[in-house]
Amino acid sequence: MSAIIPPLFRDLRELAGNYWWSWQLDGPEVFRDISRSLWETCGHNPKKLLDETLATRRTELDIDPGYRTRAQDLIARFRASVQLPVEPLPGLDPRLNAEHPIAYFSAEFAIHESLPIYAGGLGVLAGDHLKSASDLGLPLVGVGLLYRQGYFLQDMDRSNWQRERYVDIDVPSLPIERVTAADGRPLSVTVLIHRRPVHVSIWRVRVGRVPLYLLDTNRDDNEERDRWITGHLYGGNQDTRLVQELTLGFGGVRALRALGLKPSVFHMNEGHSAFLTLELLREELAQGTPLAEAKKRVKAQCVFTTHTPVTAGHDVFGVEFMDTHLGAYWNELGLTRDQCLAFGRRRPDDLWEPFGMTPLAMRFARSVNGVSRKHGEVCRELFRDFTPEREPTAVPIRHVTNGIHLPTWTAPVARTLLGRYLGPDWERRLADPRTIARIADLPDAELWEMRNRLRRHLVAAVRARAFGSRTRNCEDADFIAAADHLLDPDVLTIGFARRMATYKRMSLIIHDPERTARLLTDHERPVQFVLAGKAHPFDNEAKRNFQELARWKRPIEHLGRIVYLENYDVSLARFLVQGCDVWLNLPRRPLEASGTSGQKVVANGGLNCSILDGWWHEAFAGDNGWAIGAELDDGDPDAQDNADAEALYRVLEDEVVPLFYDRDERGIPAGWLERVRASMRSLLPVFNTDRMVLEYAREVYAPPS
Ligand SMILES: *Cc1c(COP(=O)(O)O)cnc(C)c1O
Repeated sequence: MSAIIPPLFRDLRELAGNYWWSWQLDGPEVFRDISRSLWETCGHNPKKLLDETLATRRTELDIDPGYRTRAQDLIARFRASVQLPVEPLPGLDPRLNAEHPIAYFSAEFAIHESLPIYAGGLGVLAGDHLKSASDLGLPLVGVGLLYRQGYFLQDMDRSNWQRERYVDIDVPSLPIERVTAADGRPLSVTVLIHRRPVHVSIWRVRVGRVPLYLLDTNRDDNEERDRWITGHLYGGNQDTRLVQELTLGFGGVRALRALGLKPSVFHMNEGHSAFLTLELLREELAQGTPLAEAKKRVKAQCVFTTHTPVTAGHDVFGVEFMDTHLGAYWNELGLTRDQCLAFGRRRPDDLWEPFGMTPLAMRFARSVNGVSRKHGEVCRELFRDFTPEREPTAVPIRHVTNGIHLPTWTAPVARTLLGRYLGPDWERRLADPRTIARIADLPDAELWEMRNRLRRHLVAAVRARAFGSRTRNCEDADFIAAADHLLDPDVLTIGFARRMATYKRMSLIIHDPERTARLLTDHERPVQFVLAGKAHPFDNEAKRNFQELARWKRPIEHLGRIVYLENYDVSLARFLVQGCDVWLNLPRRPLEASGTSGQKVVANGGLNCSILDGWWHEAFAGDNGWAIGAELDDGDPDAQDNADAEALYRVLEDEVVPLFYDRDERGIPAGWLERVRASMRSLLPVFNTDRMVLEYAREVYAPPS
């Protein structure tokens, strides 16, 4: 490393230390073009890429005028948007400011594929929330855990059974940094776990203007088993889960204090972080505040977003776990065991009721919300016994419908095309009806050309991925070679990718295997499917369902019309939502609280075809995609599956397929593109995280006057 680093590369190194680049036009490309192969082997981690770039290559790029211009332009944009002070958000309560930011707690954050500390939608939502807060200039800090081995890597063995593989995250190579005190020494905090002190390190991830603080117990001065507290995301048993949640809640508040921060609002993204309320309570009691007043003060600072529409989805811990782990805290809090346990019960006097994170969060939150209009209704019904005197409509639970961060999920060609017709910075101006009105100006020919390019790109990426995984699995040479003929760039492409939870019903796609085969093999108007998703390590039912699907597709595999891709992550999700013509969602009602993957296809010119649940229930307007089946829920899952499968086949056979292949003399499906424009017009302004974060800022975070 004795070579002199050109100044351009010193600037690129600074850029690599802030994930801001990941959602800019030409951001990923400026790093990728240093070396495409290194970019892939470094897992899209620019810091690692720069470390491994040879001095000769640096010099070469340093004197390449084209590259210099692009890189300098990106660096200038970075400095302008991240380092300059921002205008305060219009209409934002002045009590929310940089000294008193919002502290956003979540057990997972999906910022980028190079930082694998997320499992699915909850993490994607949290990551997108941070990015929009940064774009909008909302004073916010994130708090989460740095998992030593993240979520698992998925290998499908030759019998198509999912195997989980855990690998250590190479922390020193990540673009994150240890948080240090003024004297330069690393900051750390301590939490009591198993009645003994556990030391917690604090890392900072820069997400534009928003810092994300990650807690980590993997330290030499902790006992071996305590070093694994932050080992895996959702991988352990009840005990692991509880100690992780203690670390996140208690450790998180302590970390913020060690950083000198006094947040105005603590936002619990799901109940995993609800122990933070007990730490805030401890702080109040330690200052001598009487209990009743202390509870009031804690409640004034906390807000809670719940994500599950069923009670079984909520974390609960048996009393014996609580005795083991929280016993030490009761003394610290100066409260009795019964007082503490009652905080986590829906019915405080029911000594048999286990301790629930949702009741704890609800008890101490001044605002509780679900994540779509429908989910808000479901929650009011679910939690009515919490407030027995009230009718469900009067239970104080509102909803803030989830969105997605458009710059993260929209392909560069789509951003550029929309920029040309809607105006530069169109993502910023979606609330303005004049911006939306210009969607009508998008010409058929350019929109169709964009769709074709994105589909071709997807097909190429699918082939490369399939080739890789077939080679790793030591499949037959013929089968490996066939990866080169997977999918057809001109065929209607349907995507289905999400966590392989049973309620998401991937198996509905082959409910009538012959009918599905007919769709795939039609000579004139075929369809092709691209599937992806991980099953939870303990979910054997989901794994068996996948095996069945794999068995079914084996005899028609050679046609290349149905592909399953391993290791669904945000980078795979990006090219799927950008390339697919139709995004399918088949949840069993009412179990999809919101769902967000379908929102990611809209700006890319994809169309949604979904069960009327979650966000689609409030988004579907007749002409902006397709609804599958009726809204009614007769309570019998088998009957629902049968009815929904029939509705799915009907909508595909009678509506989706004919419209896609109905071409005019230019070979363009004008009716299809009209639907794409209707989808953009009605969905873009609403289902994005700028709208969502502003709604949180104005209606949830703003302190009651
Ligand atoms: C968007 C996304 C999700 C969430 O998808 P849903 O449709 O809400 O289930 C999950 N995983 C990844 C990798 C994603 O990008």
